[in-house]
Amino acid sequence: MSLPSARILHLVMFLASLGASVQGAETELAWPLDLPTRFLTSGFMEYRPGRYHAGLDLKTRGETGFVVRAVANGSIVRVRATARAYGRAVYLQTPSGRTYVYAHLSRFNDTLRARIDQARSRSGRYRTELYFQPGEIPVERGEALALTGQSGTAGPHLHFEVRDPDQHPLNPQIEGFALPDTFAPVISSLHAVPMSPTATVGGIRGIMTTGEPGGGSLPDTLPPLAVSGPVAFTARVVEYVDIRGYRLEPETLTVALDGQEVYRAANSSFAFDQGNRSRLEWFDGFAPRERWLHRRPAVDVPGRSGAVWPLGPDGAGLSPGRHELVVRAVDHAGNVARVVVPLLVTGSSPAPQGWRPDSLQVPPAMPEGDLAGCRLNPFFATGIETAGWTPTTLDPLRNDPVLEAIVLWSKAVELPAAARTQAEFQNLDPIGPAGFYLATDWPLESAVPVEIPGSVGAEIPDMAQVFRWNGRRWSAVGDLLAAESGQWGFQLTSPGLYSVCRDTVPPRPVLPNGPDGGIAIGPGTLAAVPGITPPRWEIFPVEIVEQGTGIDPASIRATLDGKPLVVEPDLPRSRILAELPASTQPGPHVLTLELADWGGLAAACRIPVHCRP
Ligand SMILES: [Zn+2]
Repeated sequence: MSLPSARILHLVMFLASLGASVQGAETELAWPLDLPTRFLTSGFMEYRPGRYHAGLDLKTRGETGFVVRAVANGSIVRVRATARAYGRAVYLQTPSGRTYVYAHLSRFNDTLRARIDQARSRSGRYRTELYFQPGEIPVERGEALALTGQSGTAGPHLHFEVRDPDQHPLNPQIEGFALPDTFAPVISSLHAVPMSPTATVGGIRGIMTTGEPGGGSLPDTLPPLAVSGPVAFTARVVEYVDIRGYRLEPETLTVALDGQEVYRAANSSFAFDQGNRSRLEWFDGFAPRERWLHRRPAVDVPGRSGAVWPLGPDGAGLSPGRHELVVRAVDHAGNVARVVVPLLVTGSSPAPQGWRPDSLQVPPAMPEGDLAGCRLNPFFATGIETAGWTPTTLDPLRNDPVLEAIVLWSKAVELPAAARTQAEFQNLDPIGPAGFYLATDWPLESAVPVEIPGSVGAEIPDMAQVFRWNGRRWSAVGDLLAAESGQWGFQLTSPGLYSVCRDTVPPRPVLPNGPDGGIAIGPGTLAAVPGITPPRWEIFPVEIVEQGTGIDPASIRATLDGKPLVVEPDLPRSRILAELPASTQPGPHVLTLELADWGGLAAACRIPVHCRP
């Protein structure tokens, strides 16, 4: 059976015009990745420090080199290659106005590589970002755009985004890139948190918990919990799409109180400048962190609705008697997890069954020497009167959605032994006083200028940088500045322990141990893909040891036989990747490398390279 061709043409034209008029939707979408197995390792709007995850992470079996394809007809409007973040990324725009983003790639297709090479021969730099007019680089659905990689990130995978015409990321699972899913989300633990100094939960002025954060689902109905005064709840809710069990975000989370919906968080879209609101949706005091089951004041992300304190606006609490809280999580396929929490609002306090006090105190103990205690926490304002801590009131920053001033607590501290030992291991010389900073709520938009408590008014020492301790290692966070008071200052971006250190050792390239102290490479081994020419020669790494401030990617200069060569800073693996031009002849060559760390300490090396035919 066949339709007359004119009618088919008519139908195609109708679909095309529908696609153009309905904002967003493409008529037909191809899957972005050439891999028969489809696994997610991260989902849309998952928590990342200070931002939401803007797309899906598609697993690539721990390998690189899978073809990524245009999901629809359109044009490439942007490509970028950076040492961190998205790494190598391609932006495909379609006539509907949507943009599809593919990130952490290893090799662009020939058209894009030619554009990048052209730009690099002018700039001499690896870092490249190019924008194109729609129609300038047209592509067809299914066309190979690049190969997957791990550029800018920890391990191989494809990061894939769908954006609307305003460049707001959308949930790809709702927008035509759903994965089959028969697994319901899991609500595995719940915390009840008194929100005023007089509120009680289960008879105590502390936090009560039930379930295990890493455990299975809570029972359908929990044992009743006695509460008094304003009480908030947090929950550990994770979504699984397959047997691999990567923990993702459910699509929707709702809370009903006595049958009325009081909170909703639907993960369908957000704007990039709202990304840092993610900090306000989670309580960082627990390990692992849990989601607040109510909306915090500054959270104005799409899909979020509900009261600020559902269990007691203005601190009034709920009316005495029985109440019922229902927490519900739903994934994109409609699988549901649901837990009923009976509440007994009472002045007396029956001991709860099935609930236990959490070790986290309200207000929590100050982290004397306990650096793991440094967290974003809404309770510090209620009880901090500890000697040695100095409060500073900071006015809200411009554009900061938290419109109240925040109180920042700071204290001069001695470095704990572990932090000293690690500083030595990282070749860092702590040259100034260390400061610990805590805040009731963190300003969302950017850094705040702070002074280092106890710092003398001396000149800023040469090569000094400010480092943050994360409990395991030190990371450089920026320059030491002169504060108005005459003390030393810096731009603080998150609470924690900070120290002024000097990096004492420059980066050290690890020279390979091949013939002549050099390296022997053979022809490239990547298979050819239509549109993506493999490298003629093996791409080879030069390991760099740099424990202090880190490699400054902009400092890297390389030559091959005296001619400039742009090499790739592969910073997550502390190495530099060199691809020799296809015109390089078999035989001996010389690669030179110059680079510096963020502290300005420089190093250079010369590596004989032998190209085996
Ligand atoms: Zn990602």
